[in-house]
Amino acid sequence: MSASRPSRFVGAAATRGIRVSFEFFPPKTAEMEQSLWEAIGRLAPLQPNFVSVTYGAGGSTRERTHATVKRILAETMLTPAAHLTCVAATCAEVDSVIAGYAQAGVRHIVALRGDPLGGVGERFSPHPGGYRNAADLVAGIKRKAEIEVSVSAYPEKHPDSPSIAADIEMLKAKVDAGATRAITQFFFENNLYFRYLERARSSGIDIPIVPGILPVQNFKQTKNFAARTGATVPDWLAERFDGLDDDPATRKLIAAAVAAEQVLDLVDHGVTDFHFYTMNRADLVYAICHLLGLRPAEEHSHSPAEKERA
Ligand SMILES: Cc1cc2nc3c(=O)[nH]c(=O)nc-3n(C[C@H](O)[C@H](O)[C@H](O)COP(=O)(O)OP(=O)(O)OC[C@H]3O[C@@H](n4cnc5c(N)ncnc54)[C@H](O)[C@@H]3O)c2cc1C
Repeated sequence: MSASRPSRFVGAAATRGIRVSFEFFPPKTAEMEQSLWEAIGRLAPLQPNFVSVTYGAGGSTRERTHATVKRILAETMLTPAAHLTCVAATCAEVDSVIAGYAQAGVRHIVALRGDPLGGVGERFSPHPGGYRNAADLVAGIKRKAEIEVSVSAYPEKHPDSPSIAADIEMLKAKVDAGATRAITQFFFENNLYFRYLERARSSGIDIPIVPGILPVQNFKQTKNFAARTGATVPDWLAERFDGLDDDPATRKLIAAAVAAEQVLDLVDHGVTDFHFYTMNRADLVYAICHLLGLRPAEEHSHSPAEKERA
């Protein structure tokens, strides 16, 4: 490819329509809370389209997710999206979480079925009085409140799923129920994403399917995640981190190079929206966003309260 590569653009990301979103998880300890807020403080000036906060398995972080989302609303200019699962809960319990979010001013939910309480690999069975699956949950949210709903998508198929075709059928059901954006599980081979996109489009799914990008902060941890989520870790990726167990500085440079290669190739193929799994850390994500042409906006460095005082 020559200098005409679309990723070699000059000028602001906005002129190319580049948009990013960031995913965080709710902190467990005061120390984790501090690093989360350092990451949010660093990434907020990049003006993400939204930031999402995960919901622990079986609703285990219900209060912490809610508290984090509320703090984002109160102290930043960011638009939060709250993840919500329907595993091991009655419809009434899930509905009260939805109502709580709507009341707090949350206008975006990432709706998921969730993993069975026994973990991935255990057969999922819906709670007898609960939502049956993610599509049912999307419909439930749309019935209750004017809330934008995003859902998951799996370029390499979900581990429970018999085939990609079955996955695409499930995605279609979620779109028919009112979802307007899908965010993918992370992947390292862009061809998997392009193939999935093509199949989704030819099945009549026309909502944005935003690639989920996981910068490899820690290779061993990434391998463990991948094993649980059905994502492939290619040999070439393992090779790139080979021999660096005791060399964190070089690992970080390699991680940035790997993620840069992936997102710039996606841009070259026309992708404009990216969802970053931040693991509550800013540095790699910030660098990749910089490569994508995003620059900090001064006014977004301050919370609404700080702006009022200024
Ligand atoms: C962007 C993103 C964010 C996530 N955030 C969270 C989070 O905050 N909290 C959390 O706990 N988890 C989260 N997850 C993980 C998710 O909850 C699990 O992957 C869960 O197992 C499936 O939920 P889902 O809504 O993705 O599944 P669905 O879209 O309902 O299903 C995925 C696929 O699995 C197949 N499938 C589902 N159920 C069955 C079945 N019973 N039998 C056969 N096949 C079946 C279907 O083919 C379907 O296409 C996230 C995943 C992604 C991609």
